[in-house]
Amino acid sequence: MNSSSAAPALVRYRNTIGGKQAEPIDGQWFESLNPYTGQAWAEIPRCGPADADAAVKAAHAAFQSAAWASLKPSARGKLLLKLAELIDRDAERLAAIEVRDNGKLMAEMLGQVRYLSEWYRYFGGLADKIEGAVIPTDKPEMFNYTRHEPLGVVVAITPWNSPLLLLGWKLAPALAAGNTAVIKPSEYTSASTLEFARLFEEAGFPPGVVNTITGFGVDVGDALVTHPLVAKIAFTGGDATGAHVSELAARHIKRVTLELGGKSPNIVFDDADLDNALMGAIAGIFGASGQTCIAGSRLLVQRSVHDQFVDRLVAFARTARMGDPMLATTQVGPITTLPHREKVLGYIDIARGEGAQCALGGGRPSDPALSGGWFVEPTIFVGVDNRMRIAQEEVFGPVLSVIPFDDEADAIRIANDINFGLAAGVWTRNIRRAFLMSERLQAGTVWVNTYRAVSYMSPFGGFKRSGIGRENGQEAIREYLQTKSVWMNLAEGMPNPFVLR
Ligand code: NDP
Repeated sequence: MNSSSAAPALVRYRNTIGGKQAEPIDGQWFESLNPYTGQAWAEIPRCGPADADAAVKAAHAAFQSAAWASLKPSARGKLLLKLAELIDRDAERLAAIEVRDNGKLMAEMLGQVRYLSEWYRYFGGLADKIEGAVIPTDKPEMFNYTRHEPLGVVVAITPWNSPLLLLGWKLAPALAAGNTAVIKPSEYTSASTLEFARLFEEAGFPPGVVNTITGFGVDVGDALVTHPLVAKIAFTGGDATGAHVSELAARHIKRVTLELGGKSPNIVFDDADLDNALMGAIAGIFGASGQTCIAGSRLLVQRSVHDQFVDRLVAFARTARMGDPMLATTQVGPITTLPHREKVLGYIDIARGEGAQCALGGGRPSDPALSGGWFVEPTIFVGVDNRMRIAQEEVFGPVLSVIPFDDEADAIRIANDINFGLAAGVWTRNIRRAFLMSERLQAGTVWVNTYRAVSYMSPFGGFKRSGIGRENGQEAIREYLQTKSVWMNLAEGMPNPFVLR
């Protein structure tokens, strides 16, 4: 075999534990696959409970070390600002790794990683603004004040769809608050996190403040969640895993924040700018190939414009270009993993079985150039009833359910008739209607005349089964702090010791 036809060597990654590059204790590795080619490109350490234990102990030692615990909050903030600079410097390299692992468009991942540094700047800026209060209690002989203190070791469990961005939503506030961390990325997309973890040393963080553990959730997940030295778990992923993590955490009295996805309604009224609404519907379900927790996977269209809107939607979506996610011309990339592609195709079968009509797509693309990748065609179902499984369950792929509605009350009824509550979109020119819908929709985020807008400054999280707690915005830092109330007796002597003071 000549050298040009030899398979390229796999990149071998290591974890960062206690500031050192760590090989898995059992010497096991697994391959990371490129969803566009189906080929292995990297080797990831397959960790077990002993590695998880080492990572948590390193994080705990760092939490107690003078190098971290005695660092002034403003100095902690400056480390985060330095990290932000390094992210900007390496954005292209990190984004390319994410594309190789999750198959999402380079345009999308580069945009995400370039924006990511703002999370570390924002929370870096908050690090020295964590203020307690002096409380004028009803006991004048007492001086009472509060302190907000870090929790300890935070385990951040991240999914495969936007690994570094969703990590930043957890890590930036956790570190700004003075915690240390162990990161467990998805087994499918670990490489960018392993590269990213190396930047912490360069930014000047003490060793052990940020540690990584890769491997399969079933091998290391429980060991991390139940570890006695772990104070909190910040999780983004599927609701079944989220419920499992939450259950274990409750048994061991640990804090959790959960971001568990959704089945978000994107609601188009007949008074909307229908050109914009069309772009919003496309962005909602075909952006990121629908592999996003905020996908607008239920498109509710007012009956008076339903048929014309669906015709335009189908015509537009038919032209979406599938292909190499690294190319700027590609609009729809592959599905991140082979099992997930099968799951998405399975939902298409379920929808057909339930009687929904497939108006576009509905399978794998026939183009032989795409046969190596895990593609699913942009798919649109019409005639969907909101009680069907295709309307109630998260597909996490480019599969849209279109549901007609009559008026505002009908739209609210359908939109809220679901266990999830992560996000919702409303398209209307009527300001009264925009306010009314924003108030009545049961969702953590409501977009009016836009879709998929997020910022480090604005709280994000779910109602109902979509999660617990909030990421982003000033309130996010509170999720990583605990409040201490300090009472100082200013009076002489102690009165009756047998009664509450
Ligand atoms: P999971 O919920 O299984 O994965 C999310 C993270 O949890 C991964 O890092 C995973 O690691 C980890 N994990 C798995 N098992 C455990 C465990 N026992 N203890 C602790 N951590 C664990 O998501 P999937 O990848 O299986 O996707 C399933 C569905 O979840 C998708 O089809 C989609 O509907 C939804 N989803 C939602 C996301 C969101 O943004 N809210 C993101 C991704 C998926 P590992 O990969 O190694 O198993």
